[in-house]
Amino acid sequence: MKSTIKTPFLKWFLLPLVIIFTVSAGFFIYQLFIRITPRTRRVITWIRNPQTHQDWSTEALSRCRESTPFLFPTAGYIGFLWNDSFRPGHRHQGIDIFTSESSGETPVYASFDGYLTRLPDWKSSLIIRVPRDPLHPQNQIWLYYTHLANIEGYSYIVDDFPAGVSDLFVKEGTLLGFQGNFSGTIGKPVGVHLHFSIVMDNGKNNFLNELNIQNTLDPSLYFDLPLNGKTNHGDSPVCQNQDSSP
Ligand SMILES: [Zn+2]
Repeated sequence: MKSTIKTPFLKWFLLPLVIIFTVSAGFFIYQLFIRITPRTRRVITWIRNPQTHQDWSTEALSRCRESTPFLFPTAGYIGFLWNDSFRPGHRHQGIDIFTSESSGETPVYASFDGYLTRLPDWKSSLIIRVPRDPLHPQNQIWLYYTHLANIEGYSYIVDDFPAGVSDLFVKEGTLLGFQGNFSGTIGKPVGVHLHFSIVMDNGKNNFLNELNIQNTLDPSLYFDLPLNGKTNHGDSPVCQNQDSSP
């Protein structure tokens, strides 16, 4: 007797609900975790065939305008922007510049005068202290560069800046190393690129944790490029009236 009541209930009410819930949950998970964004699609296109998209690329050591504070630190396509989200709860703290060359070939330069530090255990990273932020001179900021090593963690940072070096003055345009694909974990590479971010000072002459976007600055005005992923949904950011300088 009971089953004659239960079966129609299951069939006409509960089952459709379960199906709707499952489909909705699946779509939600797809959106959150494995959605290929237009930006990701363009990065894949660039990596597969950079030669046919050279107009997406920005030259190393260029500035968009004469008054632009920072030199562009390396050559390539700015594939991911500051404030892009790669997964739920994540916000990208910097910009990712993808080369058209292989790991270890594309030079990376200092964007601005400052004092270089490389912590003793940093294989692929360095940070440059800029005592006076060119946009807010009362603030000290730090310019962070990473992925300068190969898949095994062999460093591409030039010999002038060995691990452990601290507060060494470098001029803007100084060669720092080469773009690599080291992710931080040996054998698990990322696409060859430079990750560059502007990190805030902790008020005690040290940098805040770069992994938290709240501790970093929107680089747009420092390069005169639309580099905020939240507001730039469009194409690759390239200079409108680019003039090359030093
Ligand atoms: Zn990055």
